[in-house]
Amino acid sequence: MNVEKKVQDLLSNLGVKLVDYKGSDLKVHSPINGSLIAELALDTQATLDKKIEDAAKAFKVWRRVPAPKRGELVRIFGNILRDHKEELSQLVTIECGKIIEEGRGEVQEMIDICDFAVGLSRQLYGLTIASERPNHVMHENWHPLGVVGIISAFNFPVAVWAWNACLAFVCGDTAIWKPSEKTPLTALAVQSLFEQACQEFGDVPEGLSSVVLGERTIGEQLVVDPRVALISATGSTRMGAQVGPKVAARFGKSLLELGGNNAIVVSQHADLDVALPSILFGAVGTAGQRCTSSRRVFVHKSIADKLFNTLKKAYSGLSLKIGNPLDGKTLIGPLIDEESFNTMQSSIAAAKDQGGEVFQGQRHPLEDLKGGFYVNPALVRMSNQTQIVCHETFAPILYVMEYESLEEVMDRHNEVPQGLSSTIFTTNLQEAEYFKQFSDCGITNVNIGTSGAEIGGAFGGEKETGGGRESGSDAWKNYMRRQTSTTYYGKDAPALAQGIRFDI
Ligand code: NAD
Repeated sequence: MNVEKKVQDLLSNLGVKLVDYKGSDLKVHSPINGSLIAELALDTQATLDKKIEDAAKAFKVWRRVPAPKRGELVRIFGNILRDHKEELSQLVTIECGKIIEEGRGEVQEMIDICDFAVGLSRQLYGLTIASERPNHVMHENWHPLGVVGIISAFNFPVAVWAWNACLAFVCGDTAIWKPSEKTPLTALAVQSLFEQACQEFGDVPEGLSSVVLGERTIGEQLVVDPRVALISATGSTRMGAQVGPKVAARFGKSLLELGGNNAIVVSQHADLDVALPSILFGAVGTAGQRCTSSRRVFVHKSIADKLFNTLKKAYSGLSLKIGNPLDGKTLIGPLIDEESFNTMQSSIAAAKDQGGEVFQGQRHPLEDLKGGFYVNPALVRMSNQTQIVCHETFAPILYVMEYESLEEVMDRHNEVPQGLSSTIFTTNLQEAEYFKQFSDCGITNVNIGTSGAEIGGAFGGEKETGGGRESGSDAWKNYMRRQTSTTYYGKDAPALAQGIRFDI
């Protein structure tokens, strides 16, 4: 398969002139077969500086455009995405390796957030607050924030930008995107489609949206720049631990969406026909490379053997579903790269050392895709939640442990440093409610898996997941500045708050 040629065709259909970005700084490989698909020049401190300056200037203009009008630009962009959904989905699949069905899902998520943001552009409501003083009125107003720096991870190369940028644009902000160095081409394609939307809209200030290509160092420069009001960073906990303090040191705002270590509790009251497909999608879907992937299962001891054996049987049949992610019949595509494969193997070795009974997890060589790192997902039965289980390995490893009582298992559920997504499978209402009360995660589900959130809810997690919320609900407030405003409309000397007297 000539992946390079396919990428060139897709990029040209999406309006990207690759020659404009050609260079020798960054080699981009497709995880499908490891082939080189582009060589790009990276941004420098000087080009980043210019992009930040342009974004800051554009903010002064864009913030004055009425919010519903700003929504109109996002509406046009959503329609352009609809027209190019298939090409962009294929590019996502080629660049990050997720199966084409999930590539399409990711672009659909962009379209959905566009629709959400358009509606929101007429609903950026503040409050009217009762004043304790006569003839006073208090309001809470929301104003545009400024330049938003978006740092994204390889595994959701386009949707995460859209969650942030579409809300930022309707809120009156401008955006600079530093995509993962592993997936720069999808970012260039999205920027090109967005520029087409700007052209159709007309009169958009230059610098409203830009992409900076680079590795961690260029991200670090974006993070420390005081002209960037909000840094929204998605990626590993390691990255967040570096970014968070740097933004805080300059009193900037940060929104962190970091690693997860998501667990599923399977109660003795679970309907296993409901639980099984969800466990499988959560654990092996996206080859275990979602922040919301299921990594731990706590199963009630009365059904532990049954569930483990059923999972083992299902895992044995998965090898037939591993393959080229562009093929619609494939369910498990490659890992992103060799480093990821090596990390997975080290975690499996550690799990064995820590008493795990490991089933599968080895490389799954594919004759025609030799340079790709395909694996048989690993299933590991553990008697304890050891150190390796508490660690997020970004690969398909599912640890299965037993529990006796829901009260006891919630402590173990919450024991890990991350707090993103959690699930219980049960038909018992009391158990379901108990689980929701005591899971410490940002997302709790009942009878659906840990992965595959809708854009309408606020997305994010607690503890080392970073505490950020983006996408739906009132996450838009992250992209605006809150202002409390009191107006006195009386004619006498105004009263002071708390009844303080200051008679002159
Ligand atoms: P990563 O942390 O290696 O890189 C993410 C991004 O951060 C990249 O663009 C990278 O260049 C940049 N970066 C790294 N160090 C930086 C620094 N010090 N300053 C500024 N930028 C820096 O992550 P990855 O391997 O691309 O993605 C996988 C990780 O992302 C997993 O841990 C996964 O759970 C997490 N993730 C979280 C969410 C979420 O919403 N919570 C979503 C997707 C992925």
